[in-house]
Amino acid sequence: MHSGMIGKVEKARRYAIERDRFDIMRLEVTVRGNNDSHRVHLEDGKWSCGCDFFEHNSTCAHTMALEIMFDGMLPNGIYDGATSSVA
Ligand SMILES: [Zn+2]
Repeated sequence: MHSGMIGKVEKARRYAIERDRFDIMRLEVTVRGNNDSHRVHLEDGKWSCGCDFFEHNSTCAHTMALEIMFDGMLPNGIYDGATSSVA
């Protein structure tokens, strides 16, 4: 690896832990639940999930798991409060 690339890798490692540098605008994720896989989208600052629980509650374990994983990098207002105390 040439020296320029080594510098980039070091910068990448530093950026990767500075979460406030990142604003996730859009996501599409397949979440493998215990019983089934579910497709989760983040679009225009709103979650959607194909599971039954989300349909009735506008949140679910799948969207909450992603909120925890991407804490600090998601659009303002997306958090519904359920996950805000875990950070
Ligand atoms: Zn779900």
